[in-house]
Amino acid sequence: MKNKPFLLVANWKMNPLTLKEADRIIKSLEKGIRAMNKKDFFQKIDLVVCPPSVFLGRLPNSSGFNWGIQNIHWETRGAFTGELSVKMAEDARCQYAIVGHSERRKFFGEKDQGVNQKILSVLGGNLNPILCIGETKEEREQNKTNDVVKNQIYQALQNVSALNLPRIAIAYEPVWAISNMSNPAIQSSNNTYLNTADSPDDVMGVTILIRKILSQMYRSDITKKTKILYGGSVSQRNIDGFLDTDILDGLLIGGASLSMFEFLPIIKSCYENRSK
Ligand code: PEP
Repeated sequence: MKNKPFLLVANWKMNPLTLKEADRIIKSLEKGIRAMNKKDFFQKIDLVVCPPSVFLGRLPNSSGFNWGIQNIHWETRGAFTGELSVKMAEDARCQYAIVGHSERRKFFGEKDQGVNQKILSVLGGNLNPILCIGETKEEREQNKTNDVVKNQIYQALQNVSALNLPRIAIAYEPVWAISNMSNPAIQSSNNTYLNTADSPDDVMGVTILIRKILSQMYRSDITKKTKILYGGSVSQRNIDGFLDTDILDGLLIGGASLSMFEFLPIIKSCYENRSK
C-alpha cells in the first residue's frame, strides 16, 4: 500500500470565522511543510484541505496540496437555495468532496439515499468522493458496528461502477469518536473508550471488514484501489498507533487540522511512516 500517497484530509468544519484567519492558517501550514524540506513530500502525502466553502478559491496554495469541499449537492444546477454543485467546487479548484459526514447526517438529516445521489454526482464530474461512514455510540454498545458499516457502504455505492473504485476513499469515522479533542468536558473526564478516538485495533478490524464488503460487492481486484481512512479525534498523541497498524491509506483530521501545533507533527509522522 505504501506505493500510493497517504491521503491526509483536513476538515476545518465551520472554522475559522474570517478569510484573514483562514489565510493565516494556510500560510503557517505552507511554512511548516517547507521547513520539513522534503522534495518528495507530495509524492508521499496527498494533503487535502477542506475549508468552509466561502473561502474556497480565495486562499493561497503555492505548495501543491489539494482542496476539498465539505459537502455538495447532487443536482448539477438550478433552484436549490444554499447548495453548491460539483461544477462549482471544480471551478473553485477542488479535487475532492466529503460526502455523508456524520455531522451532515446528524444535524441536517442526510440519509443513505441522498449520500448515494451525491456520490454518483461527484463521480459524474471530476471530483473524488470521500465517503464517511460509522456507527453511533448506541450502535457500538449494541455490537451493531459491522451491520451499520455494511449497510452504509452498500447503500452509498448503489450503481457505482467498479471502474470508479480507485477514485473513492471511504473514511471510517465512528460518530462517538469525532470531535472529542475539542470538547473540554469530554477531555477532562475519565478515559473510557467512548470518550476518545477509537482504538487502532478496532479500526484495523473495521478496515478489514470494509475491504471484505467491497470484494463481496464487486468481486474484483480493483477494490484494493479504494482508499480506506480513519477519522475521529486523531491527534499528535495517538497518531502513531494508527500509523503502526500499516493498514490505513489515510486519515481524516478535524479539530487538530486547525492548529499547526497539532497538525504539523501529524503531517510529519505520516510522512515518516510513508518513507519507512
Ligand atoms: C471529522 O471532522 O471528520 C473529524 C474526524 O473530526 P475530529 O478529528 O475533530 O474528530
